[in-house]
Amino acid sequence: MIILDGISDRALSGKTPLSAANTPILDEFAKNGINGIMDPIAPGIRPGSDTGHLAIFGYDPFKCYPGRGPIEALGVGIKLDSGDVAFRINFATVDGEGSVFEKIVTDRRAGRISETNSLIRAVIGRVKIGTQYILAKGTGHRGVLVLKGNFSEKVSDTDPKKPGEKVKKCLPLEEGAINTARIVNEFLEQAHKVLDSHEFNIKREQKGLPKANAILTRGAGKFKKVISFEEKYKLKFAMISGTALVKGIARFIGGDVIEVKGATGSKDTNINAKIKAAIDSLDEYDFVAVHIKATDEFGHDMDFQGKLKFIEKIDKELSKLFELDFSKVCLIITADHSTPVSVGDHTADPVPVVICHEGVRVDEVKKYSEFEAYKGGLCRIRGIDLIKIALDLINKAEKFGA
Ligand code: ZN
Ligand code: ZN
Repeated sequence: MIILDGISDRALSGKTPLSAANTPILDEFAKNGINGIMDPIAPGIRPGSDTGHLAIFGYDPFKCYPGRGPIEALGVGIKLDSGDVAFRINFATVDGEGSVFEKIVTDRRAGRISETNSLIRAVIGRVKIGTQYILAKGTGHRGVLVLKGNFSEKVSDTDPKKPGEKVKKCLPLEEGAINTARIVNEFLEQAHKVLDSHEFNIKREQKGLPKANAILTRGAGKFKKVISFEEKYKLKFAMISGTALVKGIARFIGGDVIEVKGATGSKDTNINAKIKAAIDSLDEYDFVAVHIKATDEFGHDMDFQGKLKFIEKIDKELSKLFELDFSKVCLIITADHSTPVSVGDHTADPVPVVICHEGVRVDEVKKYSEFEAYKGGLCRIRGIDLIKIALDLINKAEKFGA
C-alpha cells in the first residue's frame, strides 16, 4: 500500500497538482487496476494524518483514537501499557520572576533547539513527582511525557500556543483529573528550576541563544491497546515512514516499523530507498505500507508547483513497482486525506484509490487523479472498508453466512 500523504487537492483553474502533473506510472496503474474515490474517515470529516491512517487500516478512529500524546510516544519508540497517559511536550524559553506559571513564554520552540538529550537526562535525574514517568526526545524541540499509573487524560494544555503569554496552569477537565493536573504542574515547576540553571542553558545564554528552560505540555491522551492488524486480518504488518506520527499509528495497531536510511519524512526523502525496502520486505511481511509525507507539506505551504513537481518525482520512483508479480501481490495506491494548496490544511474532500491485482474488474479510468478516480469500478468507498475490499479481491475475505 502506497500512501501519498495529502496528495489530493481542490481545483485551481480546473486543475489540481495531481491532475496537472505528468504521471505516466500512476496512470499505468490506474489503467490496469480498479479505481474509486474514498472518504478516508467519512464524508465531511476532515482527517488528521493519524486518524486518516487509522481509518484506512480499518480502525474506526471515533472508537479507538487515543489522542495525539500516545501516538507521538509510540512514534518515538516508547512502549506503552494500557492506562498510561501521554503528552506531547516542547522545550520553550520563558522569562520573568517567580513560579514558572508567572513567566512569559518568549519562544515556544527555544530557538528550534534540537540538542535536548542532556536537558532530558537532567530532568529525569532531578525531578521527583512521586510517580513513575518517562520523558523522551522527539524531533527537534519536541518530545513526550508519559505518566505511569492511575492518571486521567482529561486535563488542559499548558502550552499557551503563542509567544508573549504566560505558561498556562494544567487544569482538570473533570473531577477525577485533579490529581493528574497537580502532578503535571509540579513536574513543570521542578523541570523549570532544573533547566533554568543547567550548564547547557547557561552556555546557550552566553552564546546569545534562547534558553530551553521550560517544558510545555499538550495533547494528553490515554493509551488503550487495540486488536492488532495481524489478529484482525491475519496479515503481518510493516510500515515504512519517516514521520513519527505515522510510525506511532503503525505501532498502535501492533505493526512493525522498518527503518530506511534516507527516509526523512520531508521533501528530501529517499523515495527510491523506501520503495526498494518495501519490495524486499514482502518476503517477511504480508502487508507493507509505504508513507510519503512531502505531498502534504507542499499542500500546507500552499505551493501548487512544488506539489506538482514532487508528484512527478514520486511517479518516476514508483516504476520499480512494475517488478511485482500481480498474480501474487495486491497493490493499493491512495492517500490519508486531501491537503489542498488553496486551503493550506487538510479537508474532507475524498481521495483517489486504485487497487491492482490479477483478476480485478479493470475499469475505464486512464489517469490517476481526483477527476477520473470516481468513474472507476469501486465508486465511492470509506477508508474503513478498504482493507476488507482488498482482502476480497485476493480471495482472503471471510464468508458471512452459509
Ligand atoms: Zn496526512
Ligand atoms: Zn498535514
